Amino acid sequence: MPLYEYELCEGTCTICGGRFTLRRPLTAPPLEKCPLCKKPVRRVISSFNTPRLTKPLSVSEAKSAGFTVLKRVSKGEYERL
Ligand SMILES: [Zn+2]
Repeated sequence: MPLYEYELCEGTCTICGGRFTLRRPLTAPPLEKCPLCKKPVRRVISSFNTPRLTKPLSVSEAKSAGFTVLKRVSKGEYERL
């Protein structure tokens, strides 16, 4: 079964956290309400959250965009650049 991601159309929810993932069969009708809090939800298309980059981002570009760039120094260890 595919895993779908949903978020509340508005407001937040202390039950589902306002955003949740749910495994549903392909044949299931579109989910319109949070099964927990019954508030209206919309499906999150994950590609919207990860825009395709036209070119590889350099470290300095990432930094200027506000990222904290970490360099992996060994397994499980990272160093701030
Ligand atoms: Zn909810």
